[in-house]
Amino acid sequence: MPEAPLAVRDEPGAVPLFELISQYETLRGELENAVQRVLASTEYIGGSAVRRFEENLGRFCGTEAVAISSGTDALLVGLMALGVGPGDKVITSPFTFFATAGSISRTGARPVFVDIDLNTFLMQSAAISAAADGRTRAVIPVHLFGQMCDMETLHGIARRHDLVILEDAAQCLGARDGRGHGLAQLSRAACLSFYPTKNLGAAGDAGALLTGDPILAERFRQLRQHGETRRYQHAFIGGNFRLDALQCAVLDVKLKYLDRWNQRRRDIAAYYSGRFRGSTVITPAEAPGARHVYHQYVVRVPRRDALREHLQRRGIGTAIYYPLPLHLQPCFADLGYQAGAFPQAEQACREVLALPIFPELTEGQIARVADEVLAFFR
Ligand SMILES: *Cc1c(COP(=O)(O)O)cnc(C)c1O
Repeated sequence: MPEAPLAVRDEPGAVPLFELISQYETLRGELENAVQRVLASTEYIGGSAVRRFEENLGRFCGTEAVAISSGTDALLVGLMALGVGPGDKVITSPFTFFATAGSISRTGARPVFVDIDLNTFLMQSAAISAAADGRTRAVIPVHLFGQMCDMETLHGIARRHDLVILEDAAQCLGARDGRGHGLAQLSRAACLSFYPTKNLGAAGDAGALLTGDPILAERFRQLRQHGETRRYQHAFIGGNFRLDALQCAVLDVKLKYLDRWNQRRRDIAAYYSGRFRGSTVITPAEAPGARHVYHQYVVRVPRRDALREHLQRRGIGTAIYYPLPLHLQPCFADLGYQAGAFPQAEQACREVLALPIFPELTEGQIARVADEVLAFFR
């Protein structure tokens, strides 16, 4: 995630929160060939590498896919395409990465927060009705840590209040909700991020928009190219939100492995949750039937900061996603929220700790993480 420094693999026995060196070493030949082909083609903006990645990503998701310069830009372009702007309100979670709410504000609309459910860290759908009024245009559910919100419930509530749904799916490519729904099936569109630490990571900034609606997909393509409908004809104002061919080539190599990597993340999560059963550690809840892809494995614990220090002294990397809820961020002071407004989000900020989870972790490493966490509470 953007706020976390990229750890490198270091001394034996240490378990970094995250590292990309093992993955790079495995894929090195394939990646270098793909990058070399783009360099030799001299098609650096648009062209066949971008088209190929969009086709493969679209096939993977069962939707149209439009490559965008970052996950943040995907949120912004998504909101612009849906016509969200000044005077509008958009409902979202206060417990997410900053970009979700920052993008709402950048359109001129006003973010409206509703509390999360502490067990899943996901926005409480039932709280949306009370927060919606005549100015509320949209809702952005955040599928946090790799787990999707229940889209049927959300869809029903959104329809009653005439809200469009734009999914923040930055952390959950490959996930399904408890009823088997995937991304952009019960919404207008879903935003993806390929920030290097995400489950599918580029070699730099990258993102995408998914939608089942070909007309909306065309609008995304126009918006990422300054609202151009024909060469040098601008029907509306967009921006430069294109994704480089080099990033598309890298992502296209890695996409083939994503299902395998997500399964490995799920296996590591199942191992951790098994080890922590019956202990002080509160493990992340997974909705029955859902496919959680564990972008992060986040537990809740008492004495969180002391545990974090204990693990750090033993060479085990951890992180706090997120230490401060968005309704209490200085830049949102003018929205008028006070401490106590969203007790479950605020409690999450005090209790959460993300443990190492990435596909290349060895059995020995995950055993060490579990051992050290349990040793602290013994
Ligand atoms: C990573 C992330 C984003 C932003 O994506 P970038 O590609 O870093 O711009 C947005 N929302 C959430 C929930 C994220 O985790």
